[in-house]
Amino acid sequence: MVRHFSGEKLVIASHNTGKVAEIGDLLLGRGVEVISAGALNLPEPEETGETFAENAKLKAVAAAQVSGLPSLADDSGLCVVGLENAPGIYSARWAGPNKDFRHAMERIRVALGDSVDREAFFVCALALAWPDGHCEILEGRVDGFLTFPPRGDKGFGYDPIFVPVGDARTFAEMDPAEKHAMSHRARAFRLLLDACF
Ligand code: IMP
Repeated sequence: MVRHFSGEKLVIASHNTGKVAEIGDLLLGRGVEVISAGALNLPEPEETGETFAENAKLKAVAAAQVSGLPSLADDSGLCVVGLENAPGIYSARWAGPNKDFRHAMERIRVALGDSVDREAFFVCALALAWPDGHCEILEGRVDGFLTFPPRGDKGFGYDPIFVPVGDARTFAEMDPAEKHAMSHRARAFRLLLDACF
């Protein structure tokens, strides 16, 4: 049975201030006070899971246990079908310690070589955990294909090479509001709000 969020305070298990602000916006008007993991000095657990869902759960459960409050975490990435869904959960790591996504996108282009299969999808797993260990997980996905060279200067990460199905522009060529309306993160959020709020 799905558990509903009934408290007032929700910890966002992320040290990324952009993510915390974005999630706060999505929860506006629902009577939820959002607290960041950074503000509570919560440790960042190692992402040792093998799936997006496992990693999101790991982060949410750890934050809920330490803070004693319901906690929300996400894990996301790009899966390239012709590369057996790599980089997947290693999407951030492919950019290296300098977070160089030009390098990560070039790595994908080289790995694909002459392959005509350019199918790819973004995934976002959201985990909402309670201090007693209960956890709800919802996943959103957006399908598309890759294009090279990278195009556009909006967005972040792999946005300049990802064209969602039904559009000719990359995510990095769209206004943020347009991308957010169809993104994997927005879809996961809609599912979470419908199920738990
Ligand atoms: P994390 O979920 O914060 O671990 O980030 C996963 C990585 O996936 C990010 O660093 C980006 O490289 C990539 N990623 C996730 N969502 C997006 C997106 O919407 N656009 C571009 N790249 C993304």
